[in-house]
Amino acid sequence: MTPFVLLAVFAHPDDEAFGTGGTLARYAAEGCEVYLVTATRGEAGEIARPGLATPANLPAVREQELRCACRNYGIHPPIFLDYVDGQLPIVHQGQAVGKLVRIIRELRPQVMITFGPEGIYGHYDHLAVHRWATAAHELAADPDCFPDCAPCQPHLVSKLYHRVLHEDSLQARSDSGQRAAVLMDGVPFPFVGYPSSQISAVLDISPFVEQKRQGILCHATQVGEASRYANAPEEIFADHWFSHETFHLAYSSVGWPVGQEDDLFARLR
Ligand SMILES: [Zn+2]
Repeated sequence: MTPFVLLAVFAHPDDEAFGTGGTLARYAAEGCEVYLVTATRGEAGEIARPGLATPANLPAVREQELRCACRNYGIHPPIFLDYVDGQLPIVHQGQAVGKLVRIIRELRPQVMITFGPEGIYGHYDHLAVHRWATAAHELAADPDCFPDCAPCQPHLVSKLYHRVLHEDSLQARSDSGQRAAVLMDGVPFPFVGYPSSQISAVLDISPFVEQKRQGILCHATQVGEASRYANAPEEIFADHWFSHETFHLAYSSVGWPVGQEDDLFARLR
């Protein structure tokens, strides 16, 4: 039987780590073909450990860090769209969507994961990737769109999920003293949580928490030495929201769940 194919589409190295690292590892362990598309090499972010990179070599270093993470999850090497970090809203949108359509038609996933319309905390690159992936999901199935993509045939991805935060996880964050917002250009952008009614799938990734943690630690220039991911694994593993990853089902061609799903390939097996 042909294995299932899962495709995740994000903006920066490390976007995959915190909310989907366990999911990627789980489906790879099941024998699925798991692919990760990342739009940039994350070179606009700060260097958490200055000894590990310079502004000049940061794109190359962060590419290697993402490759390291993918090896830990057990998935295929990352596919880069080769865009400049921080500039996704101003790149040629048709070109970006066309790249994703081509990838979808070549890899032919049954399930896709990307950002929701809130982009976790409203990062403008995340919002751009959400729009691209949404458009590419629709257009990849349309034979009249991007016909120059031949020989790849149109492909309908059966289920499109948004990787989202449960609102209870935000409460848990603030209760444990973690930051509730991300600073962009000096302005705090708060994380956005979804209520239970909007969470379509909760995946228990407990068997994969160490793989997920190691994937996070691969992003060494983004994770400081004082990080709790490096120093307090017991505390991390005890956190319900580290071992449970949450998704909103945005599109389905195979019906809609009555309750919460525990498997992104539910109704496809
Ligand atoms: Zn990001």
